[in-house]
Amino acid sequence: MGSGQVTSSVPFEFQGKHVTVAGLGVSGVPAAKVLHGLGARVTVVNDGDDARAREQAAELEALGVTVRLGDGATLPEGTELIVTAPGWKPDKPLFTAAEAAGVPVWGDVELAWRLRGPGAADWLAVTGTNGKTTTVRMLASILGAAGLRTAAVGNIGVSLLDAVLGEEEYDVLAVELSSYQLHWAPSLRAHSAAVLNLAPDHLDWHGSMEAYARDKGRVYEGNRVACVYNADATAKPSTEDLVREADVEEGCRAVGFTLGTPGPSQLGVVEGILVDRAFVENRQKNAQELAEVSDVDPPAPHNIANALAAAALARAYGVPASAVRDGLRAFTPDDHRIAHVADVDGVAYIDDSKATNTHAAQASLAAYESVVWIAGGLAKGATFDELVTGAAKRLRGAVLIGRDRALIREALARHAPEVPVVDLDRTDTGAMLQAVQEAQRLARTGDTVLLAPACASMDMFTNYNKRGDAFAQAVRELGA
Ligand code: ADP
Repeated sequence: MGSGQVTSSVPFEFQGKHVTVAGLGVSGVPAAKVLHGLGARVTVVNDGDDARAREQAAELEALGVTVRLGDGATLPEGTELIVTAPGWKPDKPLFTAAEAAGVPVWGDVELAWRLRGPGAADWLAVTGTNGKTTTVRMLASILGAAGLRTAAVGNIGVSLLDAVLGEEEYDVLAVELSSYQLHWAPSLRAHSAAVLNLAPDHLDWHGSMEAYARDKGRVYEGNRVACVYNADATAKPSTEDLVREADVEEGCRAVGFTLGTPGPSQLGVVEGILVDRAFVENRQKNAQELAEVSDVDPPAPHNIANALAAAALARAYGVPASAVRDGLRAFTPDDHRIAHVADVDGVAYIDDSKATNTHAAQASLAAYESVVWIAGGLAKGATFDELVTGAAKRLRGAVLIGRDRALIREALARHAPEVPVVDLDRTDTGAMLQAVQEAQRLARTGDTVLLAPACASMDMFTNYNKRGDAFAQAVRELGA
């Protein structure tokens, strides 16, 4: 388990190997250091050549790592393995060259997976288009409530490399995995895994919905105990389809979660109670109460689904029902995820800046009766017809911001022509304050003003955190 021992049990594999690390940055720099420490001959290649890259390059070069800035396309001579930043697109020339030369490509997750030693902590893995971070944190909270040594790792908090190689000892890890990370993690084999949901996202990277679903489905490969799927999902391919296609260990079960009454081998909801009909004796007849819907914060439908998925993974690991309840009660949601900022004049202001795609925005719009919706930003190739059609009857009004707002405006004109729309043609720092003021003007007592942009933030803000902060600041100014 202890990762300190892991480092010393693995290095011979890397000794003298010529490894190319593709991309500096959050995963590249630590990967280069670890590989160098294991005796590999490391070259880092990076497309950019800016001040930050030079600073990182200098740090690595001082250790004896070779760094090539401004050319991430050419495969360095003699490369035997590439370790890539997860975001690098598979159609890059570097990977085409690697394929032609028979050089394997691993991502940061694959590297961490390979560096685990014998007896290392099991991984309970979570992926999906939306809800990953929330679910993984709920899962870690539940595992912790059961007295297990655990952490939420991967895309959040502790990096996987740190979790695997650091001093801290873990029994089991709650691992968040993105579709990019899964794409580059061919040998990963989780104890159990969940795909929460599947909606078009990052299609420019994956090339097609099929390829995106295939990469998400990799999380089920080699599962030992349970493949957890969303039994309510109707879109194709469903997460259950992905389970069917996966090659799992003998005896591994498919376990569904549903917001309705669960069938055998499912977790679900009965009269406000989260119940388990999968990990109980005689599941044809019995069900185990786990927690109450009111134990889930916030108790919005999509978040209850997250709680059920987390509970399913924890139960697959053998955690008692009481720990599910205690873990859910102890859980507090992260910032910018349906965060209640304030009530001003009988109107609730909710920050769901993390709703960066239409599927997420759909879930948060569905949680409120009457909404003034603040939306817009970078659409990433999305269309908004379905989202607007589904939300139309709940919309008191809409305030649109950001570069691709015309796409949402046009969808509103097509499917909700009666909804008043304010189109803000400004991207300066005062834009969010004006958006909130316009929303206040449209709202009536009892309404919710919801920032659920359905778009990425980088046209106007550094990231979704900054966008959410700007919203909260603007609401505070209203209140004042
Ligand atoms: P991820 O890590 O997958 O981005 P988060 O837990 O950070 O997911 O939530 C991102 C956003 O997705 C939230 O702000 C919320 O709007 C939405 N969301 C959360 N869970 C779900 C779900 N199960 N289904 C749809 N949308 C969800």
